[in-house]
Amino acid sequence: MPARIHPLLLALPLLALLLPVPAPALGAGPKVVVTLKPVHGLIAGIMAGIGQPQLLLGPGADPHSHALRPSEARALVRADVVFWIGPALEGYLQKPLASLAGRAAVVALSDSPGLRHLPARKGGIWRQGRHRGRDRGHAHGRDHSGHERSRDPHIWLDPRNARAMVARAVAVLARVDPTHGADYRRNGERISAALAGLEAEIDGLLAPVRALPYLVLHDAYQYFETRFRTNPQGAIAIAADRKPGARRIAAIRRRLAEGRIRCLFQETQAPSSLIETLTAGTTVRVATLDPIGRGIAPGPDAYGQLLRQLAGTMENCLSYAIGP
Ligand SMILES: [Zn+2]
Repeated sequence: MPARIHPLLLALPLLALLLPVPAPALGAGPKVVVTLKPVHGLIAGIMAGIGQPQLLLGPGADPHSHALRPSEARALVRADVVFWIGPALEGYLQKPLASLAGRAAVVALSDSPGLRHLPARKGGIWRQGRHRGRDRGHAHGRDHSGHERSRDPHIWLDPRNARAMVARAVAVLARVDPTHGADYRRNGERISAALAGLEAEIDGLLAPVRALPYLVLHDAYQYFETRFRTNPQGAIAIAADRKPGARRIAAIRRRLAEGRIRCLFQETQAPSSLIETLTAGTTVRVATLDPIGRGIAPGPDAYGQLLRQLAGTMENCLSYAIGP
């Protein structure tokens, strides 16, 4: 490593440079940073027995609207490998990661071979009637979190996409650290088999409720919904931090008043007044989903826990609506 100070650190307040630098990662493996908890869990599994990747984003942070902190910038500068989802989700990292070019392997996992992308959807009610399948609204750009992107960035919520990301990460790690190449490959095969089992398990769990209509607060679950063929009817807000307008609220209230929608899945940071406005006088049940696992402990089990938590919450809310 060159001794000169990286420009990314120069941009930080001086105080940040005076704070003690935490000890480097354990073991003889490369220093790996992963941005998002569920994907960090997958990488932690690939590196099992070799080293521990560092998780960049803290539990309260929203990848759509995060601002890089000094400690996070330091972790990036020290890294040999950085795995992120990509610019459509993590716009805050675009410039910092560009400045690491030549110093670290920066890997956007949304570019993994074999990964399936879905187009971003618009907010509001996506479709009328009982049609299933390919007639969902296709938004092109500017919807998700204000980014001018046409792809839905929540790629990790499809376990087959997770397998594609694992294969990509194994290839990168084996190239950066060939000494442990066989270990990465063996761990990767084990995780891939576990992800296939997870998909079958969730498919079975959701089978009795997959036709039941529901709404979500933030349109984060399209990959999960498409993989498991559940029946979402629309999103209240496209970005978790943007409030819906009066027209959208009125349209959603009309739809809820029809009585077909069983559940409204909110997120922890949603204002309760909005949820009350939407659901007052209706029979819709409200439950909370979390697309990045804020309450889940980081580690190799985080990905499976996140998907089981999503599936369990959906199944619980929707099956209550069927009755015993
Ligand atoms: Zn999102």
